[in-house]
Amino acid sequence: MLFKVFPVGELIRLFEILSADRIVGPVKKGEDQHGHSLYDFDVVHDFAELRLDYTQTIHSAKNYFLPYREDLCTFTFQDAAGAGGDETGGSGDGQGRPNAAGARDGGSGDWQKEVDYGVYAPLVLFGLHPCDINALNKLDKVLLGGRYPNPFYGEKRANMFIVGHSCNPQPFCFCKSMGTDSAIRGFDLFLTRMDDLYFAEVLSSRAFHLLEQIDCREPDSREHRRYLNEMAVKESLFVAHVDTSDLTKILDLEFQAPVWKEWGEKCLSCGTCAQVCPTCYCYGVEEHVDMDLNHGRKEKKLYSCNLLDFAVVAGGHNFRPESHTRLKYRYYHKHRGFVEAFEESLCVGCGRCGQSCLARITVPEVIASVRASK
Ligand code: SF4
Ligand code: SF4
Repeated sequence: MLFKVFPVGELIRLFEILSADRIVGPVKKGEDQHGHSLYDFDVVHDFAELRLDYTQTIHSAKNYFLPYREDLCTFTFQDAAGAGGDETGGSGDGQGRPNAAGARDGGSGDWQKEVDYGVYAPLVLFGLHPCDINALNKLDKVLLGGRYPNPFYGEKRANMFIVGHSCNPQPFCFCKSMGTDSAIRGFDLFLTRMDDLYFAEVLSSRAFHLLEQIDCREPDSREHRRYLNEMAVKESLFVAHVDTSDLTKILDLEFQAPVWKEWGEKCLSCGTCAQVCPTCYCYGVEEHVDMDLNHGRKEKKLYSCNLLDFAVVAGGHNFRPESHTRLKYRYYHKHRGFVEAFEESLCVGCGRCGQSCLARITVPEVIASVRASK
């Protein structure tokens, strides 16, 4: 890893160079009832909109590489003359509709399948905190490293430039407990604010050449110490903690613990926690056919394991009808199953789920209660 420093005033120049591509970063969206600013990721056209002093965004940036809704493919009926989707070809029923085999009676048309990965321009994610960068690294393991890599996700990741930014730990952040308070990979450039200077960690050649275009230099030993001091100050600011020692074993031992029912009774099964989480990737697939029977599409939607019908299977049987079994499953996936598969937790400790949950169910409280089970 290479290190550079540049004056804070140069950041706008960096932004302008990158703005040839689409930039997504933290922006202010309003205020809560206590007057605290609310932030979210959005497309940023003007440097003044970018709020790198943000506390935490409500949602992660997931929607830009793992959209909530996405067409996996679309289908169009193409008749022999190539007039797809109209009523000019021979018809199966006299009204231009194909028969069940996908061809029109007396015609030689067929269904044409189209796949669009939804990548139209390079994307710059500007200002991701370490927890969100580490969340991307975890998603990469599942969606790119497995036997069947996800090309929709892979194409978006390949067209992404990531600028990380240092953060100020909030009272609900427990990323330090999850080992995700610092990122050592998964970004091109990571910026740590040191008063009038930015300390830059450079991981890609594109980031290196980008910095050549601004007023930038090597840090001296005094600036190295300033950077390490910034890290030490940040570490001292964490309030929330999760004891992860032997957690997978404890979860196995406490699978039937009564606390799961207590948390399940509070849970509203709304699925908000999965929507805001940077690492939840479960999804469902639906197929839709247009009324004219000439067009169809296969749609993927992110889903939540807390939703009532998550475990409904063919025939209508729901093998997790009770909210506590679904809530427990979410915790076991994050803190046990994923650890078994990848030797790390699927939770990065961003605290978003607890902040957004109307029932005020937070990861530190749930884990602490399970550890304290008698
Ligand atoms: S834990 Fe909270 S956010 Fe998640 S489904 Fe239950 S009530 Fe909704
Ligand atoms: S489970 Fe909650 S704290 Fe953990 S990564 Fe997801 S939103 Fe963040």
